[in-house]
Amino acid sequence: MKDKIERLKKQKNAVILAHYYAPAEVQEIADYVGDSYYLAKIAKKTAAEIIVFCGVSFMGESAKILNPEKKVLMPDLSADCPMAHMVAPGKIEQLKREYEDLAVVCYINSTAALKCLSDVCVTSSNAVNIVRSLPNKNIFFIPDRNLGRFVAEQVPEKNIIVNDGCCPIHAAITAEQLMQIKAAHPNAPILIHPECEPELLAISDFIGSTAEIIDYAAKSERNEFIICTESGVDYKLMTDNPNKTFYYPSPWPCCTDMKLNTLEAVLSVLEKEDNEVTVDRSVSERALRPLDRMLELGR
Ligand code: SF4
Repeated sequence: MKDKIERLKKQKNAVILAHYYAPAEVQEIADYVGDSYYLAKIAKKTAAEIIVFCGVSFMGESAKILNPEKKVLMPDLSADCPMAHMVAPGKIEQLKREYEDLAVVCYINSTAALKCLSDVCVTSSNAVNIVRSLPNKNIFFIPDRNLGRFVAEQVPEKNIIVNDGCCPIHAAITAEQLMQIKAAHPNAPILIHPECEPELLAISDFIGSTAEIIDYAAKSERNEFIICTESGVDYKLMTDNPNKTFYYPSPWPCCTDMKLNTLEAVLSVLEKEDNEVTVDRSVSERALRPLDRMLELGR
């Protein structure tokens, strides 16, 4: 299957982008593996004619919005992120009426329709810096309450109103699960994603995006770590650090939508060129503005 994928990729001038939460065997054959910020930047500059995006729907949509002339395919079009829908547009309108200078800051994990109502997109790796750099005092952070609260703590000079959405995978990890794994490995520092609940962040040693967690583990002189994020990251951690040990809360946090990106589905989409991501032009034009602004401010 891997040989066939390689052949088709070259033949069709396709590039495969995979998120760290995609299955290990898909990360293995991907041309680029990363978090949503890195993949958005790659999608923006790739010269390939076809982008196969192994992630969830908001990522495929973002790639299409950044490259309207390219063919963006997803191995499984039903791979979706529940959090991406967790904002009521009426709430945005209401807050815009209440605060004259309101900036709507949209975590990239959101639908194109919500991006249209936003001023700037962010990811977990650039949210703090981008929010800090905005001239606006009043910010509505959508859709993730936990990342929003984390940013609010780091940027106390802003009035950050947080929307009540969450990632069901990260928010389901409990402090008890984390304490259990810590009790078994007391010398291992806890590296945690800011989509987790605040009481877990409070007992952790390092808070960062998936890419920042990977970077921290690689640079650290320690040789064992407790990883508190989606367990697909284990492939990259083990590949980069074969002599280090990584522990996860039990059960291992697993995003079933990300796991729909199987090797079979990648091969099938390359063969058939079906599952094309489409975004209505009027939506695409408006959703591009906050994405472009993120890439500009993120630089
Ligand atoms: S891990 Fe959470 S935020 Fe990421 S795609 Fe899955 S549900 Fe969405």
